Amino acid sequence: MRHAVLPEEAWRAAVSALPVLRGLSEEEMERLRELATLFLNEKQLVAAGGFSVDEDTRIKIAAQACLPILNLGLDCYAGWVSVIVYPGEFVPEHEFMDEAGVVHVVRDAMLGESWEHGPVVLSGADAVRCGEHDGVNVVIHEFAHKLDMLNGAMNGFPPLHRGMSSEQWAQSFTAAYADFCAKAEKNMETALDPYGAESPAEFFAVTSEAFFETPHVLQREYPDVYRQLAEFYRQDPAVRRTAEAQNPEALCA
Ligand SMILES: [Zn+2]
Repeated sequence: MRHAVLPEEAWRAAVSALPVLRGLSEEEMERLRELATLFLNEKQLVAAGGFSVDEDTRIKIAAQACLPILNLGLDCYAGWVSVIVYPGEFVPEHEFMDEAGVVHVVRDAMLGESWEHGPVVLSGADAVRCGEHDGVNVVIHEFAHKLDMLNGAMNGFPPLHRGMSSEQWAQSFTAAYADFCAKAEKNMETALDPYGAESPAEFFAVTSEAFFETPHVLQREYPDVYRQLAEFYRQDPAVRRTAEAQNPEALCA
C-alpha cells in the first residue's frame, strides 16, 4: 500500500490541468509519477487554517514539486518532512530586531514560504492554480529555495554539479540580477516577476519559475541564466515546449 503508484485516473486528471508539465515525454511523465508517489510517501502534507487537502491537491503539489528534481532525484529534498498547506494567502509572524535593539513583529501575507531544515508552506489555492503559462508558480518557487538551501542559507547559489563552473554561474546570475534590479528600480516592465529583485535568492527562485513556466521568455531575456539553469536542472524546457507546439497531437495520445 505504501508504495502503491498513484491511481491512473486521479493522476491523469490532476496533471492534465497543469500546463507547466506540457511537452514532457511519456517516459518522463511516468518517472514524474513515480517520483510524486515517493514524494507523497516521504512527506507529510499538513492542512492548516481550516483547509482540507484532497487527493487532487496532493497530486498537483507533488507533481509540480518533483518537476525540478525529475533528473536530480528525491534526495535533494531530504532532511525535512512537512508541506503545510493553507487555503489561500497566509500571514506568518516574523520577528526581527532593529539596530536600536527593538524587536518588531512583521505580518506580511504570503503565497509560500520555505524554511531551512523545516517545512515548505504553501497557499493551496495558488499551488493548484491551473492558469496558462504565466511565469508564476509558487510550488516551483518554494522548492527552488529548498534546492538553494542544500548548501546552507539561501543565497541564489545552490550546490552545482560536477563539471559546472561556479565562476560562470556567478557571472551569469550577477549580471542578470544587476540588470533586473536596475529595471525594477526604474519601474520598467519586467518579463519576470519583479519580486526577483528582492535578493539573489529570490532571483534564483523567480528565474527557476520562469525556466519551467515560460522558458522562451527567460531564454530571450537572460540566455546565460537559462543555460546555467538547464545544466543545473538537467532539463531543457524550451526545446520540449517548441517540440510540443510543433506537434501537439503526438503528445496528447
Ligand atoms: Zn521566495
